Amino acid sequence: MNKLEELQKKNEIVNYYIHARELMMWDLSTLAPKNAKQKLADGMTFFSTEIFKLTTSDEYYNLICELSKPEVFEPLDEAMRFEVAKKRRDLEKKRRVPIDFYEKYVGILNESTVIWPEAKQNSDWSMYEKALKNTIEAVKEYQKYTDPDKETYDSLIELFEEGMTQSQIDKVFDELKAELVPLVEAVTSCKQPDGQKFKIHIPKHEQIALCDYLLKYMGMDMDSFCMAESEHPFTTSMSVKDARITNHYYEEDVISAIFSCIHEGGHALFEQNIADKYDGTDAARVDYMGLHESQSRFYENILGRNINFWRPIWNDVCEIVPEFKQFTVEEFHEAINHVENSYIRTEADELTYCLHIILRYEIERAIFAGTVEVEDLPTLWNEKTNELLHITPRNDAEGILQDTHWSDGGFGYFPSYLLGSIYDGMFLEQIEKEMGDVDAILAAGNITKIHRFSLQIFLTEKPLILENYLLLIFHRVLQH
Ligand SMILES: [Zn+2]
Repeated sequence: MNKLEELQKKNEIVNYYIHARELMMWDLSTLAPKNAKQKLADGMTFFSTEIFKLTTSDEYYNLICELSKPEVFEPLDEAMRFEVAKKRRDLEKKRRVPIDFYEKYVGILNESTVIWPEAKQNSDWSMYEKALKNTIEAVKEYQKYTDPDKETYDSLIELFEEGMTQSQIDKVFDELKAELVPLVEAVTSCKQPDGQKFKIHIPKHEQIALCDYLLKYMGMDMDSFCMAESEHPFTTSMSVKDARITNHYYEEDVISAIFSCIHEGGHALFEQNIADKYDGTDAARVDYMGLHESQSRFYENILGRNINFWRPIWNDVCEIVPEFKQFTVEEFHEAINHVENSYIRTEADELTYCLHIILRYEIERAIFAGTVEVEDLPTLWNEKTNELLHITPRNDAEGILQDTHWSDGGFGYFPSYLLGSIYDGMFLEQIEKEMGDVDAILAAGNITKIHRFSLQIFLTEKPLILENYLLLIFHRVLQH
């Protein structure tokens, strides 16, 4: 067996372990009974630790070093060169983390993942406070091992946006905030369309049927896809043949499920676009979550809030949800573009959503700069909500407990949502340049043409085009 085959063999085993862990995570977040959760969390800790041991072992690292030698490296194909170089960079950091600490770290994260949904459901900060404190300490310690010379928050951002720093994000967000705050104030002081009209009782089975229909309409390969229910909607991909999303249904608020489904559907389409040959390799994984979010938010906001998305399918939508028959598509379009300062990020409109992200970014900065104590976080959250959105959460479920990200240590992810929202406007510009008016494409019911276009730009043939495309966008945003 040559070195490359040896690496592929080892990666196959690692990928089976990752698959097992991700299935446990999926189960934990969707169907598992309450009393089964701790056992699943323990199983995830076991698999994460085994994966860590395998991939940071001397044997694995030496193999990567062998493959990095120019005479072996150069003849590799593009995807494998990418894989080897990336693994080497990552391993040099990860191998500094002691295995005992790693096991403890993963255990803390998994425990917090189990506690958070319950704390949120009960709106009980006191249930979660200790778990969050432990998570923050564990994350800080982990980053001190992997990136001892960097500020912790910079190294966290890098986990989701390779090469990006707080000062770059500050520059973009500060400029945006300066214009956005007065814009939101101007818009919300105008008369708004009636956002309440669609807050009618729609049974869950109708909502699920509608989401299924919309996903097919967007171009999802339903044989390589499934959807389940969880506290917080998310997307996961086990392989290019297995993209999964979750949704959350409120029977009095169907618009919430519709837009979560379109958003997560955008992520899943992105994953389905990856060519089979890159399955399970680093070339198929995206290190720029802003790019991933640019696709989900493109479908959610740019396409999904456009009336032309709905016109060709309105009759079908009304057949699936007969309660909609009393409304016109124009009324629906108005309702989904209602702007209002609200508490919950995932249900915020396109405009105020950006402020929800800036709020989280500023709080995360404060946490890792050490300027706020964990016990003061609910107060800081409420103060910032008041400052940016002029409302004060009525309880912690509407405030600090609403997002899942911190429970699994995902600090540094939030900025990617806003970067994605900036990129998706650029994506629209590019599509219109190459394909013409998006309104006309949608009105003709040709949404899958757009899907095929993004497929060309992104991963289908050349996964690494993605990197180049992103760098182009970075330069446009950051040099602005
Ligand atoms: Zn997303």
